[in-house]
Amino acid sequence: MDDADSIDLSDNDEFMLDVEITAANVQDAINMALADDDNSNSNLTTNVDLPQLSDELINFDGNKFGEELLFKIDNDNIEKILYQHWKTFVPQCYIYHTNLIKGIIEQRTQEILFRPLDIYLYGTLNTDDAIQIIRSYNKKSTVCGHLFKSEEPTYFCRDCCVDPTCVLCTDCFLQSEHRKHRYKMNVSAGGGYCDCGDPEAWKQNVHCNLHLPHDDNNESADDILNRLPSDLRLRAKNLFNILLRFIIKLLCTGNYQDIPNELKNEYWDGDHKNYVTILFNDEVHTYDQVIHVLSRAIQCTKQEGHELASLVDREGRTAIRIGTTEQCRDVQQTIRIRTADVPLKCEIYPNSFISLQYFAQKLLTYLQNIIELSDGFRRIFCECEIECDDELDDITRTEKALLSEKMLWKSARSALHQIFINSFFMDSEWKKTFAILYMKCYPMIIRHYRTDFSFLYRADCFLRLSVQLFTTNSLAKYLISSHNAFQTIVDSFLEYCQSKLDHGKLLFSRTTNASLQHEFRRAQSILYDLKYLLGVVPQEYTVELRENFLNGFRVFLQLLSYMHGMDKVARQVGQHVEFDPEWETAFNLVIKIQSIISSILDWCAQDKELLLGAYEATGLALAEIQKTSDISHLIKDKNNSSIVKTTVNDLKVDCYAYDVAKDPISVHIPVVRLFVGKILIKERKTKN
Ligand SMILES: [Zn+2]
Ligand SMILES: [Zn+2]
Ligand SMILES: [Zn+2]
Repeated sequence: MDDADSIDLSDNDEFMLDVEITAANVQDAINMALADDDNSNSNLTTNVDLPQLSDELINFDGNKFGEELLFKIDNDNIEKILYQHWKTFVPQCYIYHTNLIKGIIEQRTQEILFRPLDIYLYGTLNTDDAIQIIRSYNKKSTVCGHLFKSEEPTYFCRDCCVDPTCVLCTDCFLQSEHRKHRYKMNVSAGGGYCDCGDPEAWKQNVHCNLHLPHDDNNESADDILNRLPSDLRLRAKNLFNILLRFIIKLLCTGNYQDIPNELKNEYWDGDHKNYVTILFNDEVHTYDQVIHVLSRAIQCTKQEGHELASLVDREGRTAIRIGTTEQCRDVQQTIRIRTADVPLKCEIYPNSFISLQYFAQKLLTYLQNIIELSDGFRRIFCECEIECDDELDDITRTEKALLSEKMLWKSARSALHQIFINSFFMDSEWKKTFAILYMKCYPMIIRHYRTDFSFLYRADCFLRLSVQLFTTNSLAKYLISSHNAFQTIVDSFLEYCQSKLDHGKLLFSRTTNASLQHEFRRAQSILYDLKYLLGVVPQEYTVELRENFLNGFRVFLQLLSYMHGMDKVARQVGQHVEFDPEWETAFNLVIKIQSIISSILDWCAQDKELLLGAYEATGLALAEIQKTSDISHLIKDKNNSSIVKTTVNDLKVDCYAYDVAKDPISVHIPVVRLFVGKILIKERKTKN
């Protein structure tokens, strides 16, 4: 699945039919398509002049330490020993270069920090052989799950894809039947993954030649685990737990004092020169503004300022000053004062805390490589992801991460996102487990996304996981029926609407304020999720599915009622209209809502009971709108009534005497339109 805001490479719809893509020319095609994009990721960390290594670092023996870990019987102790080790070595292994643009330098990290973990996990010094053996326990995979990097090509097949988010990676595409079909090539915005092998994504040709199904595919979860020796399983579980607990504690905290005392070295508090000012990314300030502020705050050249600004943009944060607390605070103050309207986020931390956070990010990559080795490891890792660390509040590590979006920065967030995809999403049962947790956190994730200036697009935050979950048909159905997903999503949008209500109707004022415009765009994107969720009409309806669909539908009606009659205008006579009232926003919203309404009608058309429920709810909503409408301005007869009797198609009806030439009217009447839609379906149903 890949999100809808990926870039479309093809100019016309029948693109590529005459050009056959092969392994040989695919890179050219991509390069050509991307030639215009400037590559701002030029490597700034070249020519790093390394400082002298301390004796402690030179003399450290990773093998010896690894064996010590391995022969500790008491597993509880291992966490303590590792914490002690990390407290001493992580701040020495990861240090900032004096020229901060060159970033963090890694010194002997493999030997000191990672080698001991390998030895412990694999139970031997000969880790290469152990990895070979563990690999041999794997069955050939029947799904791909390749994760797209930003700007990587994806392939969509018009003939076989269930919906436009279903895509293949290049390797799978070249080995699949779809290359002979009507396909389309896109460029991923990053974060999606290859759907090869997922029966819910394809109408036919589900597997490419690389991921062909085999006979014993219905192996139980236990079988997969039992292929690993029991002592290896035990060590893996223990190690994954320790590492994940550490990672979540370090990355998902807003306060460096919250982390365990065992990890704080002598440079944590007090008077020393090892503090650092960290500047965070936001989407409010332009490059030029940031460069200008930096040149005042740290007296850097324009060039240096530009390099720092690109670093912040790429990584989500960067160090801009190292020194004493006062020196760091001066920089922070200058930046805050000079960006007073919307202050640039900028914090002061002990240097060693940043090193530990950096290490936590590295550990995520390390774990990712390990779980890719073995299905068994991946399952053990998933189990660790749903453990709780805090006995007081029973939220899992996964939820903790999802809810900490505000404290995370781009690269950390993306590392967590990747590991979720590589663990949970590779197996339908675990994907379901994750979906439940995601749904629980959904309102908070939306709130962060909507209000945080550091996100511009969905691709930057956890919300990009929505498309992977909601477009899986069985999962979407399950989330609606068992976890009330329809209502949850609409509620999140209504929460945004509350601030835009005026006399019970949505009112958008004209604004040139970029952050308000972005907020609207971001809030609107919630509606994509709804579109994904309702995208495919189910074949069967259960009692719960109907009930929770209607729950969602009722709040959706609330949204329509807010839109019903918005942006009313009365015909102006006698004078020229100087300014058109703002109307674009409302239309933008209506366009987004349109496809959702068609999905809702499709859902209702399939099931009589659901149709009747929705019909009744719509009627009630309409009656409520009528009751609360202001009709005081209408023409009245001598009995003080505005009702006139008239005949339409031989049908006698009571009608308001409404003069469209004088009274205010609105083109937005979604509830009436929806009601008519329902009547049409109902009539069709009764005829059959
Ligand atoms: Zn693939
Ligand atoms: Zn494949
Ligand atoms: Zn196809």
